[in-house]
Amino acid sequence: MNGTDNFGWIAVFAIAAAVVNGAGIYAIYFNERWAERAKGWLMCFAAGVLISSPLMFAFPEAVKKNPDAGFAALGGFLFMFFSNKFIQRTAGERHLAFGITAVEGIAIHSFVDGVIYAVTFSVSLLIGMVSALGLVIHEFAEGAITFSFLLKGGMRRKKAAMFAFFVAALTTPLGAFVAYPFVSSLGPAVLGLLLGFVVGVLIYVSASHLLPEAREHEKGHSTLAFLSGVGVAIVMLFARYAR
Ligand SMILES: [Zn+2]
Repeated sequence: MNGTDNFGWIAVFAIAAAVVNGAGIYAIYFNERWAERAKGWLMCFAAGVLISSPLMFAFPEAVKKNPDAGFAALGGFLFMFFSNKFIQRTAGERHLAFGITAVEGIAIHSFVDGVIYAVTFSVSLLIGMVSALGLVIHEFAEGAITFSFLLKGGMRRKKAAMFAFFVAALTTPLGAFVAYPFVSSLGPAVLGLLLGFVVGVLIYVSASHLLPEAREHEKGHSTLAFLSGVGVAIVMLFARYAR
């Protein structure tokens, strides 16, 4: 039983992701200083949730469904590692198109984000919820970063804001809705592998992307924000046992 009735939640969170992403673009467009501060904290908080949820919720569940899920998790991690390397290399070769190339990477990443909603909610409502909490919050930073990349690439502000919304925000629900029919038709063993892959992706994104980025723009309370993210995930774990 794959809990296919969770489609409503997938839709709600995928659309919420696009809205929060848009809010990030909007915030940095109108109030850069405030948005930069908020971005740092939200990234740290999201990193805390997104490193805890795969380790405590998704990975044990994936292994339960398929004992080989560890290989898939390693696969997910290496996939992110090499695709990032590839994007960096092409960005280096095409100096002038720096902003655009970085945004291509973000578009792919945001699409994969959408696929993650489809996978986690298809496994269980709780795993979907915990992952979605971290994912939706990290969208604020993603929108802001995409907008900044496009400005650096020489795009005008208004055009950059609109373009950022298309590539960073709308690609997430797209990923979720494209992946859902496929994911919901899978048997538990294959779903376990896919969930393992998602675990690798989430650990890579939080440990190797969100945390270092937040650290680079270190503000007071960023460690506190990170630990709050971890704390919220732990509370959700205990809430599961309390039921
Ligand atoms: Zn993302």
